[in-house]
Amino acid sequence: MRIILLGPPGAGKGTQAARIVEKYEIPHISTGDIFRQNIKDGTELGTKAKEYMDQGKLVPDELTVGLVSDRLAKDDCKNGFMLDGFPRNVTQAVHLDEFLRGEGIKLDSVINIEVDKDKLVNRIIGRRICKDCGATFHVEFNPPKVEGVCDLCGGELMQRADDTEATVSKRIQVYLDQTTPLIDYYSTQKIIKDIDGDQDIDKVFEDISSALDNVK
Ligand SMILES: [Zn+2]
Repeated sequence: MRIILLGPPGAGKGTQAARIVEKYEIPHISTGDIFRQNIKDGTELGTKAKEYMDQGKLVPDELTVGLVSDRLAKDDCKNGFMLDGFPRNVTQAVHLDEFLRGEGIKLDSVINIEVDKDKLVNRIIGRRICKDCGATFHVEFNPPKVEGVCDLCGGELMQRADDTEATVSKRIQVYLDQTTPLIDYYSTQKIIKDIDGDQDIDKVFEDISSALDNVK
């Protein structure tokens, strides 16, 4: 099973990602992890990537594709993988296809979790986190027993500084602008599966599972 997982901030992608890799027994491949590992190991590509990151610049597509290709060539990806956060644009997607073609393999599916932008904003700005133990709550969907107080440790609940309506809305719009061409690209290949992310977590996973079971 070789898949790509797409989903905007606040769509619950992390939760679904964990369930997918568990059920299908495939490694979770995220560019963030790959960058960290290569920088830690001091690889040539990792060192180059770090130079860009230290300057606050985006790592160029060619370098990112090189790092991801190296990762996908490892033994644990022989039976499949789930890509998360890659490809980020059509250029990367084209390079990924070239790499896969060279390996004689192809993608099975692109899972695209969708939630309305307004709902995403509400989900994110309602989040509260405990200053002391890190437990998370939501003012609407998972409220603490006492407003502003952690159920677990009595600590003070706070909102992440960048979780204001304006910044969250901007973050989601950047994601949508970046991802729309990618979705068009995979729609042309007829491997994209749109999943309604505005449902119970279990139902979302059920829909993802049936989409993936159908491509097997
Ligand atoms: Zn707490």
